[in-house]
Amino acid sequence: MGSYLTLNGQNIHSDCFRCNKCKNLIKGEYIEYLRKYYHTACYQSTFGLKCDVCHKTIDGHYYSDVWGNKSHTHHNGNKTVFCFYCNRILSSSTSKGSQIKDGKQICGFCLETIVNTNIKIKKVEKSILILLSLVGFKQIPHDVSIELVEQSKLNKLANDYSNNIQGLASTEYRNSFTTSSIKHTIYILNNLPEVVFKGVLAHEYIHIWVRENQVKLSLQEEEGLCNLGSYLIYKNDPTPFGGNLLKQMEFNPDIIYGDGYRKMKDKLKLLNWKKLIEKVK
Ligand SMILES: [Zn+2]
Ligand SMILES: [Zn+2]
Ligand SMILES: [Zn+2]
Ligand SMILES: [Zn+2]
Repeated sequence: MGSYLTLNGQNIHSDCFRCNKCKNLIKGEYIEYLRKYYHTACYQSTFGLKCDVCHKTIDGHYYSDVWGNKSHTHHNGNKTVFCFYCNRILSSSTSKGSQIKDGKQICGFCLETIVNTNIKIKKVEKSILILLSLVGFKQIPHDVSIELVEQSKLNKLANDYSNNIQGLASTEYRNSFTTSSIKHTIYILNNLPEVVFKGVLAHEYIHIWVRENQVKLSLQEEEGLCNLGSYLIYKNDPTPFGGNLLKQMEFNPDIIYGDGYRKMKDKLKLLNWKKLIEKVK
């Protein structure tokens, strides 16, 4: 006896119509999920989207990052911020906090890998040379000096104040009556996360390869070829960071760096590394 409801063709006592989560009676609104019934709030807290920053339920607009973090668009009136380099949602729970470095907000994960000493350079430079030589960029000198510099100095060296460039390969040709020599220096922005640093270094090493082999290319072709070096690094990165950097290159609207990269990448797809290198040489 008593009141009952009909759900999915079954009669259920009102007294037995209970939430599968909290086991309390359901009187008003409810949600059915996999033939079980829930209070709306109980369903949301069990199956709904959760913010990785404040751990509360998300309904409506939210942000997500390539690392799988989701977040409300704001917390306490402050807009959600992403890591300048790896695109992680910044918070103590998603990114090991954040820090301002050279005016950029970067996450704790990136901070752990930043390249800011010669010891760290030494740790990665050899692996880049090996990787490049494996695909066919032979004869890149092993004694290229690599210098870490701040943004203002880098812009000055490159004579470029419009872009925040990250690397530059400079070559000095010295001639005297008896000898001639070439000295290469690669300048790289200080405090780059390791994977970004490696991408920049591979790019600049290919500039040096071009000069050493006196390869004649247009500016667009040369920058495109050099970006294939970064492509090689990012593609080998096992984290979403590499994929994100690849995407940035793929969608770069710049005529020289973006179009150059896309054209060279198409050539690489058509040929292979060895044949491409032979062809440009
Ligand atoms: Zn409930
Ligand atoms: Zn939140
Ligand atoms: Zn980061
Ligand atoms: Zn370049």
